[in-house]
Amino acid sequence: MSDPLMATYRRLPVTFTHGEGAWLWDEAGKRYLDALSGIAVCGLGHAHPAVRDALCEQAGSLIHTSNLYQIAAQTELGTRLTALAGMDRVFFGNSGAEANEAAIKLARLHGHHRGIERPAILVMENSFHGRTLATLSATGNRKVQAGFEPLVQGFVRVPYNDLGAVETAAANRQDIVAVLVEPIQGEGGINIPAPDYLPRLRAICDRQGWLLMLDEIQTGMGRTGRLFAHQHTGIQPDVMTLAKGLANGVPIGACLARGVAATVLGPGSHGSTFGGNPLACRAASVVLETLESEGLVDRAADLGNQVKTSFRQALARQPGVRDIRGLGLMIGIELDRPCAELVGQALEAGLLINVTADRVIRLLPPLILEGDQVALLVDRLALLIVAFLATPAPKPVGG
Ligand SMILES: *Cc1c(COP(=O)(O)O)cnc(C)c1O
Repeated sequence: MSDPLMATYRRLPVTFTHGEGAWLWDEAGKRYLDALSGIAVCGLGHAHPAVRDALCEQAGSLIHTSNLYQIAAQTELGTRLTALAGMDRVFFGNSGAEANEAAIKLARLHGHHRGIERPAILVMENSFHGRTLATLSATGNRKVQAGFEPLVQGFVRVPYNDLGAVETAAANRQDIVAVLVEPIQGEGGINIPAPDYLPRLRAICDRQGWLLMLDEIQTGMGRTGRLFAHQHTGIQPDVMTLAKGLANGVPIGACLARGVAATVLGPGSHGSTFGGNPLACRAASVVLETLESEGLVDRAADLGNQVKTSFRQALARQPGVRDIRGLGLMIGIELDRPCAELVGQALEAGLLINVTADRVIRLLPPLILEGDQVALLVDRLALLIVAFLATPAPKPVGG
């Protein structure tokens, strides 16, 4: 039997049939604790009754009409989202990459309006912004780009969390119009910048007349213990992109903008057939309602502290554990060696985790995680990490 699917993914050998809350079940009836939430997507967990009911109701009346017409559910979501984010306007697409594409186009058009012929966007090393041509060009990871040259031009790259490098770029280039940056790098290894990084970046953007564009696709929607991660810092971006957790698994992306940035894209300058359709918007609205009614954002902050503290206790005597860091339920455990095989071992043990940047165990559990599930997560994973670190690393060939 040949595989009908293009080989774009290295999939784990498991098929899930259903879920409930933080639990998933496979075809054999084995139960798994989901500490990844479909990569920060299902923040309300699986089969949340409010999401289920809203989707069933919406599917029973209207799924799609196109943006040729008014869409009440889109306007309603836009009103809610811009108010919560302190932004003025929003464009809806269907994914994170599309949200960033909108931001990139917006920045370029803004540059042209200001008379800059070849506008450039400042981006970071180790960043991740998506897999479309423009967003992979913005991404700071050669593995994502290799083979797809020529890349899209107009990106200037500096190290993350390095304001000196930003100042140097500001002094040397007149073509920069915007900065695109993750408040915390997710794919890059749960990299948390210094507390004054975003505020000082904001100040540089103000001084230079650059747009500050935050990619909150992974950090947004309560994940870090605030609805949006930048709200930990008190600054306000000019542009913010969202996707992953926005509609709990129904595809959606959003590009929000404020002030002058909110009026850059006009009729005919951008669009999407599916973007902001009634089904996706209804799902996102119910996610926002539920985050609030169930107090899940504060819960993410509390649970995150609990998870970090428990791991620090459980792994205190492990010199192979380099760092345990995170904000809310976006948590990284960095080891002193590559540890991709832990993903398969955790799967065996009924636990879904991820490893990113070779040696960082990434945890993105749902915000509805319960106390006994925190204990289970920490116990199971700490045991696996201790056993993994006790196994001597295979000798390099010829060494
Ligand atoms: C996942 C992610 C993206 C890309 O989102 P897609 O929906 O996969 O296109 C972009 N930026 C960040 C920070 C992400 O985590």
